Amino acid sequence: MIKRMVVNKDQYIIIVGCGRLGGYLANELSESSSNSVVVIDKNADAFERLNVSFSGFTIEADALETDVLINAKINKADVVVTTTNHDNVNIMVAQIAKSIFGVGHVIARLTDPSKEKVYEELNIETISPTALSAIEFKRIIMEGR
Ligand code: AMP
Repeated sequence: MIKRMVVNKDQYIIIVGCGRLGGYLANELSESSSNSVVVIDKNADAFERLNVSFSGFTIEADALETDVLINAKINKADVVVTTTNHDNVNIMVAQIAKSIFGVGHVIARLTDPSKEKVYEELNIETISPTALSAIEFKRIIMEGR
């Protein structure tokens, strides 16, 4: 069961990738107070995951193109979350957001937990759904003994 997120102040949040993870996150954040959420995905069909009540903006484009990020007003973003299904894309966009546009809070999806060290060295915060799921599965299994 996922608890509803509590965000203290309204933030301008860019989500890269509107897949199963990014789309879910976009819907959640859009419902939390009056965050401004922009979602970028190179596949227009991905935006069908967004609720009818989603109040943000969508951009159909490849987030690896700097012009796309500029168009999303990345220089004004409080948070950038990269959630595509490619770790390399996630790390590259996260780096661009941090180093070129000076975004204060950048979080990247990391599918392959063995790459965690690389991200750490680049000072990029990561979340690995793979590792989180494994930990939760283990917890449930151990509790069921
Ligand atoms: P999922 O694996 O379901 O979380 O989906 C990942 C999403 O990331 C898909 O909707 C892809 O179209 C999207 N995606 C992958 N690469 C890029 C990219 N370079 N720019 C924007 N979106 C991307």
